[in-house]
Amino acid sequence: MDCFYADGLKFSCVEGCTYCCGVEPGYVFLSQDDLDRLCAKTSLSAERFIERYCHKVNMGSFKLVSLLEQPNYDCIFLKDRRCSVYDARPIQCRTYPFWPAIMDSEESWKEEGGSCPGIGVGREYSQEEIDELLSLQRGREPLMLD
Ligand code: SF4
Ligand code: SF4
Repeated sequence: MDCFYADGLKFSCVEGCTYCCGVEPGYVFLSQDDLDRLCAKTSLSAERFIERYCHKVNMGSFKLVSLLEQPNYDCIFLKDRRCSVYDARPIQCRTYPFWPAIMDSEESWKEEGGSCPGIGVGREYSQEEIDELLSLQRGREPLMLD
């Protein structure tokens, strides 16, 4: 079966929209790479960064590390409707909306378009670019703590 995005897909983040950085409660899970980049950006040790900007999400036998939210559910790094750590933002943010679960089918891509107004408009991403964004996410498991 042909890949539904063989001819590419359009996506551009819409200026002023902050939907996926806040609005509703959610998780931005960090991988070790994400944590390293954010620690370098904020000049903090991993321990201090987690203490200040993260919470640990209990998954039963282990915990995942997710960015804190502000009281209105905006990400802790969303300031004046912009990401204040943009060049060090986590892979989850970098690769949206080209996530495996969304790219699974044309239906899930279109369904995601109901939440993200940038889906289907603006810049054209080729199949190669999309596959590259998907491959960036492979092998970068979220950081697991005891
Ligand atoms: S929901 Fe889409 S348009 Fe809105 S901030 Fe996120 S990526 Fe950008
Ligand atoms: S790190 Fe930046 S891009 Fe990611 S959710 Fe927070 S504000 Fe948005």
